[in-house]
Amino acid sequence: MERRDFLKRFGLIAAMAGVGGKTLAQEAKPETAQPVDKKRLPNADEVKLTFIGTSHGRVTTTRAHSCTLLQTGGKNYVIDAGEGAVANIMKAGTHISDINAIFITHPHLDHYGGLYGLQQQISSFRKFYKEGEPRAAATYDILLPSEDLLKIMKDIKTAHHHGVYPKWHHFQVFKEGQIFDDGNIKVTAYGNDHMSRLPDGTPVAFSFLFECANGKRIFFSGDLHKSFDLPLEGIKKNGVDLLVCELVHYPIKLAVERLKDLPVKKTCFQHHGDAWEAKGWEERFAKFSSQLTMPSEIMTDGDVRFV
Ligand SMILES: [Zn+2]
Ligand SMILES: [Zn+2]
Repeated sequence: MERRDFLKRFGLIAAMAGVGGKTLAQEAKPETAQPVDKKRLPNADEVKLTFIGTSHGRVTTTRAHSCTLLQTGGKNYVIDAGEGAVANIMKAGTHISDINAIFITHPHLDHYGGLYGLQQQISSFRKFYKEGEPRAAATYDILLPSEDLLKIMKDIKTAHHHGVYPKWHHFQVFKEGQIFDDGNIKVTAYGNDHMSRLPDGTPVAFSFLFECANGKRIFFSGDLHKSFDLPLEGIKKNGVDLLVCELVHYPIKLAVERLKDLPVKKTCFQHHGDAWEAKGWEERFAKFSSQLTMPSEIMTDGDVRFV
């Protein structure tokens, strides 16, 4: 069954089932009824998310490692840069050299394997813009979750025996708390236990809250611990319009328990494995999703959603 057909069918299933005194389909229907114009840029009150890579640690024939493009206020941000990020962002219609910042959730290869290529390509294109063009001078930030990852990036640069256009990018290793504010988006990092912490307790795996100037709020889980340690404080305080949540490291019954009645308008699940492509996945996801208290979808590479 085609995914879109499934979503339509799921809307009907959910409408019949009804959850928590309301029908999921009443909220989900408008979105599933209208095809999304993937090339359209977001309006002033919108955030556009393009799911560039939605697979977990092993790529599939149709899905690449983790990468999401967030566009709002005329700027382009990348969350995680797994292998395949450069080509797939270009194919999705955004030019690499127009990226304004890159945020890496944690130093696992399926989240940074494409970072060096991405950084090099952005700078490579900028190098050839003529002096005076805005993009020729624009610098951009790459926010890294650990000193170890910064060392890896520096070691690759050394192995190349050249400077790799150092003029444009700016590495920053972040810790918990607010890590970025360009007046268009504010980003807060919440540590989790997906990876062992440093001896002093410092986390190296993070979830992110994006607060956009137009008021939209989006939470990215990053990868989580098997206990589903989604940092709820980042969601509960003011609620979020969308939760982008991984779907591989925990038993889904924990997600049902912990997501219950959270102030989340919608959840998009990604970073999922082969099981969610195997025979019968539609019914399994419908069963899972019908237990949640907000509408939810499972995403695939190239999917676009406007928030
Ligand atoms: Zn991962
Ligand atoms: Zn991971």
